[in-house]
Amino acid sequence: MENINWADLTFGYLKTDYNVRSYYRNGQWSDLEISDSEFINLHIAATSLHYGQEAFEGLKAFKGKDGKIRIFRMRENALRMQASSRGIMMAEFPIELFEKAVVEVVKQNLRFVPPYESGASLYIRPLLIGTSAQVGVKPAKEYLFVVFVTPVGPYFKEGFKTTPVGIFREYDRAAPHGTGTIKVGGNYAASLVAGEIAHSKGYSAVLYLDAKEKKYIDECGPANFFGIKNNTYITPLSSSILPSITNKSLMQLAEDTGMTVERRPVPLEELATLEEAGMCGTAAVISPIQRVDDVDKNQSYIFSKDGKPGAVSEKLYNKLRAIQYGEEEDKYGWTTII
Ligand SMILES: *Cc1c(COP(=O)(O)O)cnc(C)c1O
Repeated sequence: MENINWADLTFGYLKTDYNVRSYYRNGQWSDLEISDSEFINLHIAATSLHYGQEAFEGLKAFKGKDGKIRIFRMRENALRMQASSRGIMMAEFPIELFEKAVVEVVKQNLRFVPPYESGASLYIRPLLIGTSAQVGVKPAKEYLFVVFVTPVGPYFKEGFKTTPVGIFREYDRAAPHGTGTIKVGGNYAASLVAGEIAHSKGYSAVLYLDAKEKKYIDECGPANFFGIKNNTYITPLSSSILPSITNKSLMQLAEDTGMTVERRPVPLEELATLEEAGMCGTAAVISPIQRVDDVDKNQSYIFSKDGKPGAVSEKLYNKLRAIQYGEEEDKYGWTTII
């Protein structure tokens, strides 16, 4: 293998050796198969292509200072993928088989797990799609589960730092009783236009408001939102946001450090009272917010004047990373050692 320059990796795709697959046919999931092909052979009328029967997951494996590889909270991803499947009428992939597939795909690609010093990690991407032909709008009878891996670089190459986000009211990501709570590709397709506009204006993400009233904060494109004030961790409760596993973990860690945790509707005006704000998800753990520009109202909420993250965000970020890299006790059994 050519030497991989771990430090130069981005959040992209690099071919690895193997992926792991299972097929749902006649009401049953097959045993896991190991494949060295990056391609799938798909029927032109597959429901995933026409009607969006597609769900995915994202998790990571980390190599610690002790040389051990740890996968973070994979059972949560297995459960969430089942919830996504129920949401768009796909066959549910069994939890134990999901965990077995994730462990197997990491074992099959050990040479792609970045070294501890690099700050990079191995991104794991499970995918579930409807594969059988259907022209009428109906769920497929056959499905494919596939999980592949790709090494990804450290999210913060120049150190942990803040970025600005923008509110653009003319775009919604998900409806109040739509598919916002499940991890389906359709939500991402719906967010691409607003995302591109935001990026072109210098924002790292769109901060979505609730689609119905535009009064409450929903989430930030592919990451949940949280705010900090008065020793309290505040994160929106909404019927159109994705239950982030990172957010769930941060809520636990915040509580453990003696903070109060509030999960409730967060009115837009409350931004003015927050001491810190951030986005959270597997990609970055925490991506602290420098300021929120309410682009339509020509108003800004500033959280960091010098671009530096707030102390609480930094503390929670370090704590979660320490568990992922095996440097702090994993008292909740969040990691699986390979
Ligand atoms: C995946 C995802 C997140 C982050 O979830 P994690 O489990 O923390 O990675 C947040 N919002 C949306 C819309 C997502 O799809």
